[in-house]
Amino acid sequence: MQPFLRELADLLGREHVLTGDRAEPYLTDWRRRRTGRALAVARPGDREQVAAVVRLCAAHGVPIVPQGGNTGQVAAATPDDSGRALVLSLARLNRIRAIDPEGDTMTVEAGCILETVQQAAHAAGRLFPLSLGAQGSCTVGGNLATNAGGTQVLRYGNARELTLGLEVITAEGEIWDGLRALRKDNAGYDLRDLYIGSEGTLGIITAATLRLHPLPRARHTALLALESLAQAVRLLAHARAELDATLTAFEVMGRECLEMVVQAFAQQRLPFAAADPATRWYVLLECSDPRGGPGSAADFEATLARAWEGGLAHDAAIAASAAQQADFWRLREHITLALAEQPYCIKHDISLPIAAIPDFVQATDALLQRHHPGTRMRVFGHLGDGNLHYNLLGPAGSTRQDWMAAEPQVQALVHDQVAALGGSISAEQGIGSLRVADLRRYKPPLEVALMRRIKQALDPQGLLNPGKVLD
Ligand code: FAD
Repeated sequence: MQPFLRELADLLGREHVLTGDRAEPYLTDWRRRRTGRALAVARPGDREQVAAVVRLCAAHGVPIVPQGGNTGQVAAATPDDSGRALVLSLARLNRIRAIDPEGDTMTVEAGCILETVQQAAHAAGRLFPLSLGAQGSCTVGGNLATNAGGTQVLRYGNARELTLGLEVITAEGEIWDGLRALRKDNAGYDLRDLYIGSEGTLGIITAATLRLHPLPRARHTALLALESLAQAVRLLAHARAELDATLTAFEVMGRECLEMVVQAFAQQRLPFAAADPATRWYVLLECSDPRGGPGSAADFEATLARAWEGGLAHDAAIAASAAQQADFWRLREHITLALAEQPYCIKHDISLPIAAIPDFVQATDALLQRHHPGTRMRVFGHLGDGNLHYNLLGPAGSTRQDWMAAEPQVQALVHDQVAALGGSISAEQGIGSLRVADLRRYKPPLEVALMRRIKQALDPQGLLNPGKVLD
């Protein structure tokens, strides 16, 4: 055994240093885009052990790849194939350290599963609103390192806005205790905001103080059928005007997305008697009302009725129970799972000014059909945040290899369109290893240069998640 691995085993105990078959599950990303090699997988149990592992890596010049639930979509938690890196799993740091319902905060360790955090907040009579399809397996550390978005951003903001303080291990292995529960703190540069969204390239997050919200008294959910995306944009403006801050989610899904879900998963069903041929898009709309009571449901229904009368939707189903609300959300959440069953999907996670989205989709679909005939669109997303998952399947009958070979041209075509409209090529999933070249191509050179200077200052040896975000 190498001296490095021996010292690591002395620090953590042999059972928490995985090699060979036991390391395998940590070496391939969720989308199976990258499989790397690693010296080992280390599973420290507390922040002191994380700090000691980082110091050991710094002394031996060993790169570190932090990993939470490994649900990321851009291969950011996967080592390269050099076999030189250590995968650092935060999964054992899974304690909820404190909940303060009156101060509306909770402090949790980085390896806590998001759903566990939501449940703990709920048990204390509070809401931790970050919600995403992977919440049963992604971790708070991963959520913060990617500044995750999800389905409630419209009302509560993304992970950054839900975080008050952080505890971080620096590249030198120091422990920075920034677990402050302050709403206001302008004492110097905001280090917390620097680490959030840095994808493990600037420091290792070991704990966070999160912002909680009151539990809404009532939740109303509806699925609406629409003819066009332009209608969806108008419906969003209508819902915002009428529901104001109670509007918590506004998700758009192409008709083909839900057809794919229903085909792939026998237990999933659309709530409409028969799919209307006029339907091209569905909207999943949710409102969380602090008031509750019968008036709240009546207001929601009246808002939908006015949308229908105004020609903003031609069919609507309102969930009649919590079980039906969960059914509607499962349809939405199964889209990513259904796409994973396809031979290969070229994914784009883009954001645009909301008003530009219908024209973007129309123009980009047309360009793709011209240059890559037969491309099948599977577009959905968080329309309320201007964020689309513009996903593309290859022509019917094409293989994984065919469509992977087309990816660079397809992606450049889509991202050029996004850039021309002033959008972003990564709305919520980050850059990871898959979008590094795109970052260089589409970010202004000065922004990339400033990012490099920050990286050099905080990680001068370049050992934290090398090759991710910046090359
Ligand atoms: P990982 O995948 O393990 O890691 C992600 C990145 O964070 C890597 O760069 C890793 O090095 C770094 N990292 C992990 N833990 C730490 C730590 N403690 N300290 C420093 N760096 C760390 N994302 C969204 O934003 N919105 C969505 O709606 C959404 N829906 C999804 C639906 C499905 C079905 C799936 C599979 C994924 C979805 N994702 C979504 C992507 C993914 O779930 C998020 O990016 C999530 O935040 C990643 O958390 P994780 O614990 O799995 O992180």
